[in-house]
Amino acid sequence: MTKNQSSSVKKAIITGAASGIGYATAKLFIEKGFIVGLIDADKKRLETISKDFKQSGHECYYRSVDVTDEVSLKKAIDELTDSLEGLDIFFSNAGINGTWAPIETLTIDEWDRTINTNLRSTFLCIKFAIPHMKENGGSIIITSSINGTRIFNNFGASAYSASKAGQVAFTKMAALELARYNIRVNAICPGAIDTAINEKTTYSDELKEVEIKVEFPEGNRPLKNKTGTSKQVAQSVLFLATDASANISGTELYVDGAESLL
Ligand code: NAD
Repeated sequence: MTKNQSSSVKKAIITGAASGIGYATAKLFIEKGFIVGLIDADKKRLETISKDFKQSGHECYYRSVDVTDEVSLKKAIDELTDSLEGLDIFFSNAGINGTWAPIETLTIDEWDRTINTNLRSTFLCIKFAIPHMKENGGSIIITSSINGTRIFNNFGASAYSASKAGQVAFTKMAALELARYNIRVNAICPGAIDTAINEKTTYSDELKEVEIKVEFPEGNRPLKNKTGTSKQVAQSVLFLATDASANISGTELYVDGAESLL
């Protein structure tokens, strides 16, 4: 029996693995002895990460694809599953903030880009992962956001919030449907996390003139004004990925230091 065929070695595919939460999760999975297949649009970063993992003696495969491109995505998932010799865990995590603008001025193209990258890609990932997981069961984790269930701030984030809310609803439907295959499906809902995503957000000019964004009262932010880390989110993903959460499916786990309760 090769290393890959050992039933105790978990095989995981992670999207958005080149940065932030996806990368932190890939690192943690590797540390735990999982074999990982990485998917991201950023080929250069994937090459570097994969080289680093391999140099430290870990098995790792990657495909650089755009998760909105269904043909390339399916091919990547099929090929990575072949390389991993199985698939136990799928982490659908790639996402963007997109453009934040009032609904009146948000372009239809920008709406579509955000919904497609965050929500449609999750549907595609899970659709293409099911054939590889249905025989032996497993765990699917989807990165949503506190914005998916608590619309209390972030004026201008209508497309982002709708995509993240859609992911939560999709998680619950998928959990019901896939229970018969012993596949669990859960969402994580991070609060503000220190990753590059926030630098990539485009804010429309109109937003600079509107002061609707709700700020935490001075000193009153839960967990002492701290932004969360991608490593903390990765620990929660690990919990949902393993038998530690064996009877948990169809739920969303907040990793937000109580931010969503305000
Ligand atoms: P990040 O920008 O650090 O990482 C996102 C990764 O996704 C990048 O490597 C990027 O190249 C990849 N990606 C984006 N679009 C892609 C596409 N079309 N095809 C393939 N890869 C693509 O951001 P992050 O914070 O790690 O984000 C991960 C997830 O966490 C996202 O779904 C995001 O919405 C969610 N999230 C983040 C925060 C936060 O504050 N950072 C809060 C809540 C939810």
